Amino acid sequence: MSMAIPTSTAQSRPKAFLASVEAPLRKIDKMRDHYGKESPVSEYFGCMTFGLAQMREKLPKDAYSNLLKTLDHGKKLPKETAESIASAVKEWSVSKGVTHFCHWFQPMTGSTAEKHDAFISIQHSNHSELRVIERFTGSQLIQGEPDASSFPSGGMRSTFEARGYTAWDPTSPLFIIEEENGKTLCIPTVFFGYHGQALDNKTPLLRSNDALSTAACEFLKMVGDIDVKKVATTLGAEQEYFLVDKKFAALRPDLLMTGRTLIGSSSARGQQLEDHYFGSIPSRVKSFMQEAEFELYKLGIPVKTRHNEVAPSQFELAPIFEDMNIASDHNLLTMEVLKRVALKHGMVCLLHEKPFAGVNGSGKHNNWSMANDKGENLLEPGHTPHQNIRFLACLSVVLRAVYRNAAAMRAAIASPGNDHRLGANEAPPAIISVFLGSLLEGILNSIEQGKALKGTDEQIIDLGVDQIPNISKDYTDRNRTSPFAFTGNKFEFRAVGSSQNVAVPMSFLNAAIADAFKDSTAELKEILKKKKRDEAVMELVRKIVKETKAIRFAGNGYSDEWKAEAKKRGLPILNTTPEALEVLKDKKSTQFLVNTKVLTREEIDSRYHIAVERYVKTLDIEHTALLELASTYIIPTLEKQMHQLGDAHEAMTSPALKKVHKARIAEFESVFLDVLNGYETFLTKVEKSRKGHDEQKRMMEIVKDLQPASFELRAAIDQAELLVSDELWPLPKYREILLAHNLS
Ligand code: ADP
Ligand code: MG
Repeated sequence: MSMAIPTSTAQSRPKAFLASVEAPLRKIDKMRDHYGKESPVSEYFGCMTFGLAQMREKLPKDAYSNLLKTLDHGKKLPKETAESIASAVKEWSVSKGVTHFCHWFQPMTGSTAEKHDAFISIQHSNHSELRVIERFTGSQLIQGEPDASSFPSGGMRSTFEARGYTAWDPTSPLFIIEEENGKTLCIPTVFFGYHGQALDNKTPLLRSNDALSTAACEFLKMVGDIDVKKVATTLGAEQEYFLVDKKFAALRPDLLMTGRTLIGSSSARGQQLEDHYFGSIPSRVKSFMQEAEFELYKLGIPVKTRHNEVAPSQFELAPIFEDMNIASDHNLLTMEVLKRVALKHGMVCLLHEKPFAGVNGSGKHNNWSMANDKGENLLEPGHTPHQNIRFLACLSVVLRAVYRNAAAMRAAIASPGNDHRLGANEAPPAIISVFLGSLLEGILNSIEQGKALKGTDEQIIDLGVDQIPNISKDYTDRNRTSPFAFTGNKFEFRAVGSSQNVAVPMSFLNAAIADAFKDSTAELKEILKKKKRDEAVMELVRKIVKETKAIRFAGNGYSDEWKAEAKKRGLPILNTTPEALEVLKDKKSTQFLVNTKVLTREEIDSRYHIAVERYVKTLDIEHTALLELASTYIIPTLEKQMHQLGDAHEAMTSPALKKVHKARIAEFESVFLDVLNGYETFLTKVEKSRKGHDEQKRMMEIVKDLQPASFELRAAIDQAELLVSDELWPLPKYREILLAHNLS
């Protein structure tokens, strides 16, 4: 006898639903016992990391000071120092039960990669006995050489030189990933080719931090901060995500293959009532969050807030901001932890920008600012006239950077997933603009009119610039429709997609700022020949305020009027990824990356090619999956429904009933026809397109021709879903997937 297997999806759909709402809560008490069930977070925070604090404690004095020199002055790490670090790291890891180590790096696929090696090595003793010992050397720590031929290089590595090199990034702490049956030491690493070409997303970010620091220091010295040594950027990345029950995901080939639903009719109840946002968190989800936070704390990731987001089954987590490079690594790790822990709770964490049509998508708000080596936030209005002049100067440099490089910033957040969000009346529009709030708008407007040009204390006091109120404390003047908004003491780049590696948009932003600092320094030098310092700075601010006016926008970014207005202002409007990626091919629009040495021309070209290839591949997968769903799930279901309708019609004896029923059949047939026509049209277009070989041409064809045809097919299928008997419908429906948590 065969085992009892569910014979049709019509059976497993309701079963999946019941199983989902009855899923037991996974408790984390047992694991927490290990650290003491009630022990405060501060006691185990970062216990799975090995960073500067641990190195200070565990390393010999001179080794530690050599490491600091490397960090501060970019000096090469002496071999002996590398050996002592490796030995301390090994001791620490082995004591924690670690068996393997891996170089953890960020190839241009957008995610992270790792290659594991065991610590064990064979030692020959005097009597030629073999003995296994744990060994980890300085050169293993500092550099590994993966066979990198299967990572994308965008044509930069020729095949005879397929190797890539990985090198430890000492600015980011080492960390241990714990899984059910073992632990692995991860070494945050950069990945580059033989000639030093960046093959990853981390190298440009590190370069951009340096570029910004150098350019900002030069500028600040002229503004009057003569002793400034370093400027760091800070990042707090708010992460949005969806959680759906694993049993539903398993029944949805589209979710499995593409991370989003390719079809699905909106449920009667979506987010209209706005009752999910900040509502109480379902207990099953809360127990997931608690375990995820527990794991993140051990990794030294300071997650601070958790709440429901706007769409049903959508949630958000936000950390306390950190230095750019660390925050960026931490966001990647956070995404990994969310996915891993969700599975343990029988759920799938969807990081896709648009898993469900008709409800909000997910973004990742990048809160960004700059701080000097005293820890002062340069975008924080201060208490003295000088601090406020510095604030206005830095603010105007940001305006200049975004104004000049809006197109490139749009390109930096382009992805097939984000295309469903940007400009879709729920997320920031595909037009980059800056929102400052009415207070700053007022100040900038009076500066523009020359009211505060003298820059003397009295003038500035007149204007109120000496006491720009502490905006960050109570900053209610928000604009949720702005892609790049000032929020009191930082900017929030809101258009970044939820699944993206933030290193990409952040390195573009940093480079743009660095470039703007450079130009502003040169201009300030000229003005200073004629004017005193504060007056000169205010004159520069005025110049920039005038020059960048077009980028400031305080109205509704979702409105059609804004699109027309933006066009009039000459701002770039790049609605889709293919349009946005073309910016990378434009020398002028990307010159700031070259000027600041964040990317070379060759590296920009390679990134363009990789992005095009990824776009085409992603869409090819989605299109194949949609065609398969239509032909193996939907059309057969419609055929069954047709039979049912026919049988029912046969059985009817009342002429009145038959007549009305005929109308129902006609309605169904018309939708069935739309599905079949939609399928045939789309299939023909897809097959024809795939005969083409030029990727760039295919990308354009996909966005102009294939996408509209796929949307039509989807619309017809979603229509059909509303006409087919619930018993026959083969896929979990939106209402089941999205609202199940309400019952848990
Ligand atoms: P908001 O009300 O704007 O969401 P929060 O204080 O909750 O403000 O901050 C949101 C995110 O911004 C958090 O991740 C926070 O750590 C981060 N953040 C705050 N200050 C800065 C800063 N100076 N630089 C970068 N990120 C910051
Ligand atoms: Mg926010």
